[in-house]
Amino acid sequence: MKIRARKFDGRCARHKRYNPAVDGLGGIRGACSRCTLLSEIWEASLRLNGLIRSFSPNHDDLKRPVEKAPAADPRQMSLLGE
Ligand SMILES: [Zn+2]
Repeated sequence: MKIRARKFDGRCARHKRYNPAVDGLGGIRGACSRCTLLSEIWEASLRLNGLIRSFSPNHDDLKRPVEKAPAADPRQMSLLGE
Protein backbone atom coordinates (compact mmCIF):
# COMPACT_ATOMS: atom_id res chain seq x y z
CA MET A 1 0.00 0.00 0.00
CA LYS A 2 1.38 3.36 -1.00
CA ILE A 3 0.34 6.53 0.78
CA ARG A 4 1.27 9.86 -0.66
CA ALA A 5 3.16 11.93 1.88
CA ARG A 6 2.53 15.34 0.46
CA LYS A 7 3.28 18.76 1.78
CA PHE A 8 0.00 20.61 1.72
CA ASP A 9 0.26 24.38 1.46
CA GLY A 10 -3.46 25.08 1.44
CA ARG A 11 -4.42 28.54 2.58
CA CYS A 12 -7.69 30.39 2.71
CA ALA A 13 -7.61 33.37 0.32
CA ARG A 14 -9.68 35.46 2.72
CA HIS A 15 -7.88 34.42 5.92
CA LYS A 16 -4.27 33.89 4.88
CA ARG A 17 -3.09 33.83 8.47
CA TYR A 18 -5.41 31.01 9.50
CA ASN A 19 -3.41 27.93 10.51
CA PRO A 20 -5.54 24.99 11.73
CA ALA A 21 -2.53 23.47 13.53
CA VAL A 22 -2.21 26.62 15.67
CA ASP A 23 -5.64 28.26 15.61
CA GLY A 24 -7.88 25.16 15.60
CA LEU A 25 -11.61 25.32 14.90
CA GLY A 26 -11.96 28.32 17.21
CA GLY A 27 -9.75 30.40 14.91
CA ILE A 28 -12.18 30.19 11.98
CA ARG A 29 -13.77 33.56 11.28
CA GLY A 30 -17.43 33.78 10.26
CA ALA A 31 -17.81 30.01 9.71
CA CYS A 32 -15.64 30.30 6.57
CA SER A 33 -16.05 27.13 4.52
CA ARG A 34 -12.45 27.25 3.20
CA CYS A 35 -11.00 27.57 6.69
CA THR A 36 -13.30 24.78 7.91
CA LEU A 37 -12.04 22.57 5.08
CA LEU A 38 -8.42 23.36 5.98
CA SER A 39 -9.17 22.41 9.57
CA GLU A 40 -10.78 19.14 8.45
CA ILE A 41 -7.75 18.31 6.27
CA TRP A 42 -5.50 18.97 9.26
CA GLU A 43 -7.64 16.77 11.55
CA ALA A 44 -7.66 14.01 8.92
CA SER A 45 -3.86 14.12 8.61
CA LEU A 46 -3.52 13.81 12.40
CA ARG A 47 -5.90 10.87 12.33
CA LEU A 48 -4.01 9.24 9.46
CA ASN A 49 -0.72 9.60 11.32
CA GLY A 50 -2.30 8.07 14.41
CA LEU A 51 -3.74 5.16 12.44
CA ILE A 52 -0.39 4.41 10.81
CA ARG A 53 1.34 4.55 14.20
CA SER A 54 -1.22 2.19 15.78
CA PHE A 55 -0.83 -0.23 12.87
CA SER A 56 2.96 -0.43 13.15
CA PRO A 57 2.96 -2.97 16.07
CA ASN A 58 1.38 -5.42 13.60
CA HIS A 59 4.41 -5.00 11.38
CA ASP A 60 6.54 -6.09 14.35
CA ASP A 61 4.37 -9.21 14.74
CA LEU A 62 5.03 -10.11 11.13
CA LYS A 63 8.77 -9.80 11.72
CA ARG A 64 8.78 -12.23 14.67
CA PRO A 65 8.43 -15.47 12.64
CA VAL A 66 11.42 -14.32 10.57
CA GLU A 67 13.42 -14.00 13.79
CA LYS A 68 12.32 -17.48 14.88
CA ALA A 69 13.33 -19.05 11.57
CA PRO A 70 17.11 -19.08 12.29
CA ALA A 71 16.34 -20.86 15.61
CA ALA A 72 14.80 -23.74 13.63
CA ASP A 73 17.91 -24.16 11.51
CA PRO A 74 20.21 -25.54 14.26
CA ARG A 75 17.59 -28.22 14.98
CA GLN A 76 17.57 -29.27 11.35
CA MET A 77 21.36 -29.30 11.33
CA SER A 78 21.46 -31.47 14.47
CA LEU A 79 19.06 -33.92 12.82
CA LEU A 80 21.37 -34.09 9.84
CA GLY A 81 24.27 -34.62 12.26
CA GLU A 82 22.57 -37.61 13.90
ZN1 LIG B 1 -11.28 31.55 5.52
